[in-house]
Amino acid sequence: MNICHFCGNSNFKDTVCEYTYKRDGRMLFVENVPCRKCGFCGETYFLSENLRKIEAEFEAIHYHGKKATGEIVVPTQHFADITSVT
Ligand SMILES: [Zn+2]
Repeated sequence: MNICHFCGNSNFKDTVCEYTYKRDGRMLFVENVPCRKCGFCGETYFLSENLRKIEAEFEAIHYHGKKATGEIVVPTQHFADITSVT
């Protein structure tokens, strides 16, 4: 990949990102995933092999009883219920 699909920029930074995998109403939040980040718009790109690893880990945790490193509780909100603070 040489050009960002979103903005056309060609400068990328190799870094680590967070990746949230969702399927069937379940989620797996993965930290420190190697990624390339667009230097202009910040869009992140992941290697397909890493996404396959995350998918396999999601299945291991949600369907085969593997214990995850940790768990977080995330508040949820409907947009219509958000009241303006201005
Ligand atoms: Zn970009």
